[in-house]
Amino acid sequence: MYRISLITGDGIGPEISDAVIDVLQTINDNLGLKIELKKLEAGDTTLRKTGRALPDSTLETIKKSDACLKAPVGESAADVIVVLRRTLDLYANIRPAKSYPNMPALGENIDLVIVRENTEDLYTGMEFDIGDSAVALRTISEKASKRIAKYAFKTATQRNKQRRVTCVHKSNVMRKTDGLFARSCQEISNDYPDIAFEQMYVDACAMNLIRQPGSFDVIVTTNLFGDILSDEAAQVVGGLGMAPTANIGDNFALFEPVHGAAFDIAGKHAANPSSFILSAKMMFEWLGMKNNDDRCYAVAKKIEDAVYGVVRDGTKTKDIGGNKTTKEFAQQVISKII
Ligand code: ATP
Repeated sequence: MYRISLITGDGIGPEISDAVIDVLQTINDNLGLKIELKKLEAGDTTLRKTGRALPDSTLETIKKSDACLKAPVGESAADVIVVLRRTLDLYANIRPAKSYPNMPALGENIDLVIVRENTEDLYTGMEFDIGDSAVALRTISEKASKRIAKYAFKTATQRNKQRRVTCVHKSNVMRKTDGLFARSCQEISNDYPDIAFEQMYVDACAMNLIRQPGSFDVIVTTNLFGDILSDEAAQVVGGLGMAPTANIGDNFALFEPVHGAAFDIAGKHAANPSSFILSAKMMFEWLGMKNNDDRCYAVAKKIEDAVYGVVRDGTKTKDIGGNKTTKEFAQQVISKII
Protein backbone atom coordinates (compact mmCIF):
# COMPACT_ATOMS: atom_id res chain seq x y z
CA MET A 1 0.00 0.00 0.00
CA TYR A 2 1.20 3.49 -0.83
CA ARG A 3 0.43 6.46 1.43
CA ILE A 4 -0.12 9.52 -0.70
CA SER A 5 -0.54 13.02 0.74
CA LEU A 6 -2.47 15.54 -1.34
CA ILE A 7 -2.54 19.32 -0.89
CA THR A 8 -5.74 20.58 -2.51
CA GLY A 9 -4.55 24.19 -2.89
CA ASP A 10 -6.28 27.38 -4.01
CA GLY A 11 -8.06 28.67 -7.12
CA ILE A 12 -8.60 25.72 -9.46
CA GLY A 13 -6.64 23.51 -7.02
CA PRO A 14 -9.67 21.89 -5.34
CA GLU A 15 -11.36 21.22 -8.71
CA ILE A 16 -8.38 19.47 -10.27
CA SER A 17 -7.73 17.71 -6.94
CA ASP A 18 -11.22 16.17 -7.11
CA ALA A 19 -10.34 14.83 -10.57
CA VAL A 20 -7.09 13.29 -9.29
CA ILE A 21 -8.83 11.83 -6.22
CA ASP A 22 -11.34 10.09 -8.54
CA VAL A 23 -8.46 8.75 -10.68
CA LEU A 24 -6.62 7.41 -7.59
CA GLN A 25 -9.82 5.83 -6.27
CA THR A 26 -10.30 4.12 -9.65
CA ILE A 27 -6.74 2.77 -9.53
CA ASN A 28 -7.25 1.57 -5.94
CA ASP A 29 -10.55 -0.14 -6.79
CA ASN A 30 -9.68 -1.62 -10.20
CA LEU A 31 -5.95 -2.03 -10.72
CA GLY A 32 -4.92 -3.83 -7.55
CA LEU A 33 -2.62 -1.08 -6.29
CA LYS A 34 -3.74 0.00 -2.83
CA ILE A 35 -3.56 3.70 -2.09
CA GLU A 36 -4.22 5.48 1.20
CA LEU A 37 -4.91 9.12 0.45
CA LYS A 38 -4.58 11.97 3.00
CA LYS A 39 -6.10 15.31 1.96
CA LEU A 40 -4.10 18.23 3.39
CA GLU A 41 -4.43 21.97 3.68
CA ALA A 42 -1.89 24.60 2.60
CA GLY A 43 -2.01 27.90 0.75
CA ASP A 44 -3.96 31.16 0.84
CA THR A 45 -7.17 29.81 2.38
CA THR A 46 -5.20 27.96 5.05
CA LEU A 47 -3.19 31.12 5.77
CA ARG A 48 -6.39 33.10 6.29
CA LYS A 49 -7.84 30.37 8.52
CA THR A 50 -4.81 29.42 10.59
CA GLY A 51 -2.25 32.20 10.15
CA ARG A 52 0.14 29.73 8.50
CA ALA A 53 0.32 28.90 4.77
CA LEU A 54 2.02 25.60 5.54
CA PRO A 55 0.86 24.28 8.93
CA ASP A 56 3.20 21.95 10.84
CA SER A 57 0.56 19.21 10.76
CA THR A 58 0.55 19.29 6.95
CA LEU A 59 4.34 19.08 6.80
CA GLU A 60 4.44 16.22 9.32
CA THR A 61 1.83 14.21 7.40
CA ILE A 62 3.72 14.77 4.14
CA LYS A 63 6.92 13.49 5.76
CA LYS A 64 5.14 10.31 6.83
CA SER A 65 3.78 9.61 3.33
CA ASP A 66 5.43 7.80 0.42
CA ALA A 67 4.92 10.73 -1.97
CA CYS A 68 3.03 14.00 -2.17
CA LEU A 69 0.70 15.44 -4.77
CA LYS A 70 0.30 19.21 -4.58
CA ALA A 71 -2.31 21.30 -6.35
CA PRO A 72 -1.34 24.94 -7.04
CA VAL A 73 -1.60 27.53 -4.29
CA GLY A 74 -2.07 31.28 -4.81
CA GLU A 75 -0.21 34.27 -3.38
CA SER A 76 1.39 32.16 -0.64
CA ALA A 77 3.14 29.86 -3.16
CA ALA A 78 6.60 30.86 -1.99
CA ASP A 79 5.68 30.02 1.61
CA VAL A 80 4.48 26.58 0.57
CA ILE A 81 6.38 25.12 -2.36
CA VAL A 82 9.70 26.88 -1.82
CA VAL A 83 9.65 25.78 1.84
CA LEU A 84 8.67 22.22 0.91
CA ARG A 85 11.42 22.00 -1.71
CA ARG A 86 14.00 23.23 0.77
CA THR A 87 12.79 21.26 3.82
CA LEU A 88 12.54 17.99 1.90
CA ASP A 89 15.64 18.75 -0.21
CA LEU A 90 13.80 18.24 -3.47
CA TYR A 91 16.68 19.40 -5.61
CA ALA A 92 15.56 18.26 -9.05
CA ASN A 93 12.57 19.82 -10.78
CA ILE A 94 11.55 17.67 -13.71
CA ARG A 95 9.27 19.15 -16.34
CA PRO A 96 8.50 17.02 -19.38
CA ALA A 97 6.92 18.54 -22.50
CA LYS A 98 5.45 15.97 -24.82
CA SER A 99 3.27 16.13 -27.93
CA TYR A 100 -0.28 14.91 -27.50
CA PRO A 101 -2.53 14.26 -30.49
CA ASN A 102 -5.10 16.75 -31.63
CA MET A 103 -3.48 19.61 -29.70
CA PRO A 104 -2.81 23.26 -30.55
CA ALA A 105 0.96 22.62 -30.49
CA LEU A 106 3.87 24.20 -32.34
CA GLY A 107 5.20 20.92 -33.64
CA GLU A 108 4.82 17.16 -33.68
CA ASN A 109 7.00 14.47 -32.13
CA ILE A 110 8.12 16.70 -29.29
CA ASP A 111 9.38 14.72 -26.33
CA LEU A 112 11.74 16.70 -24.14
CA VAL A 113 12.32 17.08 -20.44
CA ILE A 114 13.64 20.09 -18.57
CA VAL A 115 15.75 19.22 -15.52
CA ARG A 116 15.80 22.37 -13.44
CA GLU A 117 17.99 22.93 -10.38
CA ASN A 118 15.53 23.56 -7.59
CA THR A 119 17.36 24.86 -4.54
CA GLU A 120 19.47 27.89 -5.40
CA ASP A 121 19.93 30.68 -7.99
CA LEU A 122 17.81 33.82 -7.49
CA TYR A 123 15.10 31.84 -5.65
CA THR A 124 16.70 31.70 -2.22
CA GLY A 125 14.97 34.94 -1.20
CA MET A 126 18.21 36.83 -0.52
CA GLU A 127 17.06 40.29 -1.55
CA PHE A 128 17.97 43.59 0.04
CA ASP A 129 17.27 47.28 -0.24
CA ILE A 130 20.49 49.23 -0.52
CA GLY A 131 19.86 52.96 -0.68
CA ASP A 132 17.47 53.57 -3.55
CA SER A 133 18.29 50.20 -5.17
CA ALA A 134 17.10 46.66 -4.61
CA VAL A 135 19.64 43.85 -4.85
CA ALA A 136 19.14 40.09 -5.27
CA LEU A 137 21.88 37.55 -4.58
CA ARG A 138 22.36 34.72 -7.04
CA THR A 139 23.93 31.60 -5.56
CA ILE A 140 25.23 28.77 -7.72
CA SER A 141 27.31 26.06 -6.06
CA GLU A 142 29.46 23.34 -7.56
CA LYS A 143 27.79 20.72 -5.37
CA ALA A 144 24.23 21.57 -6.49
CA SER A 145 25.29 22.02 -10.12
CA LYS A 146 26.99 18.63 -10.27
CA ARG A 147 24.11 16.96 -8.47
CA ILE A 148 21.56 18.26 -11.01
CA ALA A 149 23.87 17.51 -13.93
CA LYS A 150 24.15 13.90 -12.76
CA TYR A 151 20.37 13.72 -12.55
CA ALA A 152 20.08 15.03 -16.12
CA PHE A 153 22.56 12.50 -17.50
CA LYS A 154 20.84 9.67 -15.66
CA THR A 155 17.52 10.86 -17.11
CA ALA A 156 18.95 10.90 -20.66
CA THR A 157 20.30 7.39 -20.12
CA GLN A 158 17.01 6.02 -18.77
CA ARG A 159 14.86 7.73 -21.41
CA ASN A 160 17.06 6.28 -24.14
CA LYS A 161 15.66 8.70 -26.74
CA GLN A 162 18.08 11.10 -28.45
CA ARG A 163 20.63 10.48 -25.66
CA ARG A 164 21.59 14.14 -25.47
CA VAL A 165 21.87 16.67 -22.65
CA THR A 166 21.73 20.39 -23.46
CA CYS A 167 23.16 22.58 -20.71
CA VAL A 168 21.44 25.99 -20.79
CA HIS A 169 23.03 29.04 -19.19
CA LYS A 170 24.24 32.57 -19.88
CA SER A 171 27.89 32.29 -18.96
CA ASN A 172 28.96 34.97 -21.42
CA VAL A 173 27.25 37.51 -19.13
CA MET A 174 27.14 35.82 -15.71
CA ARG A 175 30.68 34.54 -15.91
CA LYS A 176 31.09 33.49 -12.30
CA THR A 177 27.74 31.87 -11.53
CA ASP A 178 26.81 30.40 -14.90
CA GLY A 179 30.47 29.77 -15.64
CA LEU A 180 30.53 27.45 -12.61
CA PHE A 181 27.27 25.80 -13.63
CA ALA A 182 28.48 25.14 -17.20
CA ARG A 183 31.87 23.83 -16.02
CA SER A 184 30.21 21.50 -13.50
CA CYS A 185 27.89 20.06 -16.17
CA GLN A 186 30.80 19.65 -18.57
CA GLU A 187 32.76 17.76 -15.91
CA ILE A 188 29.89 15.38 -15.18
CA SER A 189 29.44 14.80 -18.93
CA ASN A 190 32.85 13.06 -18.92
CA ASP A 191 31.29 10.27 -16.82
CA TYR A 192 28.66 9.66 -19.51
CA PRO A 193 30.53 9.15 -22.78
CA ASP A 194 27.44 7.56 -24.42
CA ILE A 195 25.36 10.72 -23.92
CA ALA A 196 26.03 13.68 -26.20
CA PHE A 197 26.59 16.98 -24.41
CA GLU A 198 26.00 20.45 -25.79
CA GLN A 199 25.77 23.94 -24.31
CA MET A 200 23.32 26.67 -25.32
CA TYR A 201 22.75 30.22 -24.14
CA VAL A 202 19.33 30.70 -22.60
CA ASP A 203 18.18 33.22 -25.23
CA ALA A 204 19.10 30.81 -28.03
CA CYS A 205 17.31 28.01 -26.19
CA ALA A 206 14.14 30.13 -25.85
CA MET A 207 14.22 30.67 -29.62
CA ASN A 208 15.02 27.06 -30.51
CA LEU A 209 12.19 25.77 -28.34
CA ILE A 210 9.85 27.56 -30.75
CA ARG A 211 11.86 26.95 -33.94
CA GLN A 212 12.76 23.26 -33.54
CA PRO A 213 11.29 21.86 -30.30
CA GLY A 214 11.64 18.28 -31.56
CA SER A 215 15.42 18.61 -31.53
CA PHE A 216 15.69 18.63 -27.71
CA ASP A 217 15.99 15.61 -25.44
CA VAL A 218 17.11 16.61 -21.91
CA ILE A 219 17.71 20.24 -20.99
CA VAL A 220 19.56 20.93 -17.73
CA THR A 221 19.49 24.45 -16.37
CA THR A 222 19.43 26.70 -13.33
CA ASN A 223 16.33 27.56 -11.28
CA LEU A 224 15.07 30.81 -12.86
CA PHE A 225 15.87 29.86 -16.48
CA GLY A 226 14.21 26.48 -15.89
CA ASP A 227 11.09 28.14 -14.52
CA ILE A 228 10.72 30.32 -17.60
CA LEU A 229 11.73 27.76 -20.24
CA SER A 230 9.38 25.12 -18.85
CA ASP A 231 6.35 27.42 -19.14
CA GLU A 232 7.43 28.12 -22.71
CA ALA A 233 7.89 24.40 -23.43
CA ALA A 234 4.44 23.71 -21.94
CA GLN A 235 2.86 26.22 -24.31
CA VAL A 236 4.77 24.74 -27.25
CA VAL A 237 3.02 21.39 -26.72
CA GLY A 238 -0.46 22.73 -26.02
CA GLY A 239 -0.55 24.85 -22.91
CA LEU A 240 -0.16 24.85 -19.16
CA GLY A 241 -3.21 22.62 -18.69
CA MET A 242 -1.22 19.65 -20.00
CA ALA A 243 2.03 20.23 -18.09
CA PRO A 244 3.02 18.14 -15.05
CA THR A 245 6.11 18.49 -12.90
CA ALA A 246 8.06 16.50 -10.33
CA ASN A 247 10.21 17.80 -7.46
CA ILE A 248 12.59 15.00 -6.63
CA GLY A 249 15.10 14.43 -3.84
CA ASP A 250 17.11 11.39 -2.84
CA ASN A 251 14.40 10.05 -0.51
CA PHE A 252 11.14 11.85 -1.27
CA ALA A 253 9.28 13.43 -4.18
CA LEU A 254 6.43 15.86 -4.69
CA PHE A 255 4.38 16.16 -7.86
CA GLU A 256 2.40 19.20 -9.03
CA PRO A 257 1.10 20.93 -12.15
CA VAL A 258 3.43 23.51 -13.74
CA HIS A 259 0.65 26.09 -13.68
CA GLY A 260 -0.52 28.31 -10.85
CA ALA A 261 -3.90 28.65 -9.15
CA ALA A 262 -5.52 30.28 -12.25
CA PHE A 263 -8.01 32.32 -10.19
CA ASP A 264 -9.56 33.69 -13.41
CA ILE A 265 -11.23 30.34 -14.13
CA ALA A 266 -11.64 29.04 -10.57
CA GLY A 267 -15.12 27.71 -9.82
CA LYS A 268 -16.12 27.72 -13.50
CA HIS A 269 -15.56 23.97 -13.98
CA ALA A 270 -13.29 24.86 -16.91
CA ALA A 271 -9.90 23.79 -15.56
CA ASN A 272 -8.00 21.15 -17.46
CA PRO A 273 -7.10 18.45 -14.90
CA SER A 274 -4.53 16.79 -17.22
CA SER A 275 -1.56 18.59 -15.70
CA PHE A 276 -2.41 17.19 -12.26
CA ILE A 277 -3.45 13.75 -13.54
CA LEU A 278 -0.16 13.54 -15.46
CA SER A 279 1.64 14.62 -12.27
CA ALA A 280 0.11 11.53 -10.64
CA LYS A 281 1.46 9.51 -13.58
CA MET A 282 4.96 10.86 -12.84
CA MET A 283 4.45 9.95 -9.18
CA PHE A 284 3.71 6.31 -10.02
CA GLU A 285 6.81 6.15 -12.24
CA TRP A 286 8.90 7.47 -9.37
CA LEU A 287 7.29 5.06 -6.87
CA GLY A 288 7.97 2.23 -9.34
CA MET A 289 11.62 3.17 -9.57
CA LYS A 290 12.09 3.74 -5.85
CA ASN A 291 10.35 0.54 -4.77
CA ASN A 292 11.24 -1.60 -7.75
CA ASP A 293 7.51 -2.12 -8.22
CA ASP A 294 6.41 -2.92 -11.78
CA ARG A 295 2.76 -2.41 -10.82
CA CYS A 296 3.45 1.31 -10.41
CA TYR A 297 5.00 1.53 -13.88
CA ALA A 298 1.94 -0.24 -15.29
CA VAL A 299 -0.38 2.23 -13.54
CA ALA A 300 1.66 5.19 -14.83
CA LYS A 301 1.38 3.89 -18.37
CA LYS A 302 -2.36 3.35 -17.99
CA ILE A 303 -2.81 6.95 -16.87
CA GLU A 304 -0.77 8.40 -19.72
CA ASP A 305 -2.45 6.19 -22.33
CA ALA A 306 -5.85 7.24 -20.97
CA VAL A 307 -5.11 10.98 -21.23
CA TYR A 308 -3.59 10.43 -24.68
CA GLY A 309 -6.67 8.50 -25.80
CA VAL A 310 -9.11 11.06 -24.43
CA VAL A 311 -7.56 14.03 -26.25
CA ARG A 312 -7.04 11.94 -29.39
CA ASP A 313 -10.81 11.22 -29.37
CA GLY A 314 -11.46 14.96 -29.20
CA THR A 315 -12.61 15.22 -25.57
CA LYS A 316 -11.07 18.50 -24.47
CA THR A 317 -11.42 21.31 -22.00
CA LYS A 318 -11.66 24.92 -23.17
CA ASP A 319 -7.94 25.76 -22.86
CA ILE A 320 -7.07 23.14 -25.50
CA GLY A 321 -9.93 23.92 -27.83
CA GLY A 322 -12.89 21.93 -26.43
CA ASN A 323 -15.95 22.50 -24.26
CA LYS A 324 -15.82 19.74 -21.64
CA THR A 325 -15.93 20.50 -17.95
CA THR A 326 -13.19 19.39 -15.57
CA LYS A 327 -15.37 16.55 -14.31
CA GLU A 328 -16.49 15.40 -17.77
CA PHE A 329 -12.88 15.27 -18.92
CA ALA A 330 -11.78 13.36 -15.81
CA GLN A 331 -14.64 10.85 -16.22
CA GLN A 332 -13.46 10.10 -19.76
CA VAL A 333 -9.93 9.51 -18.48
CA ILE A 334 -11.27 7.22 -15.77
CA SER A 335 -13.35 5.23 -18.28
CA LYS A 336 -10.14 4.53 -20.22
CA ILE A 337 -8.19 3.51 -17.11
CA ILE A 338 -10.62 0.77 -16.07
P1 ATP B 1 1.67 31.58 -11.19
O1 ATP B 1 2.33 32.91 -11.10
O2 ATP B 1 1.43 30.93 -9.89
O3 ATP B 1 2.31 30.65 -12.20
P2 ATP B 1 -0.34 32.76 -12.90
O4 ATP B 1 -1.65 33.30 -12.47
O5 ATP B 1 0.70 33.64 -13.47
O6 ATP B 1 0.20 31.83 -11.73
P3 ATP B 1 -1.30 30.41 -13.99
O7 ATP B 1 -2.26 30.30 -12.88
O8 ATP B 1 -0.24 29.39 -14.07
O9 ATP B 1 -0.60 31.78 -14.05
O10 ATP B 1 -2.12 30.38 -15.33
C1 ATP B 1 -2.06 31.32 -16.38
C2 ATP B 1 -3.35 31.20 -17.17
O11 ATP B 1 -3.38 29.93 -17.85
C3 ATP B 1 -4.53 31.20 -16.25
O12 ATP B 1 -4.98 32.49 -16.09
C4 ATP B 1 -5.53 30.29 -16.91
O13 ATP B 1 -6.40 31.00 -17.74
C5 ATP B 1 -4.66 29.35 -17.74
N1 ATP B 1 -4.54 28.04 -17.08
C6 ATP B 1 -3.59 27.67 -16.19
N2 ATP B 1 -3.80 26.41 -15.79
C7 ATP B 1 -4.89 25.97 -16.43
C8 ATP B 1 -5.62 24.72 -16.41
N3 ATP B 1 -5.26 23.67 -15.67
N4 ATP B 1 -6.71 24.63 -17.20
C9 ATP B 1 -7.09 25.67 -17.96
N5 ATP B 1 -6.46 26.86 -18.03
C10 ATP B 1 -5.37 27.01 -17.26
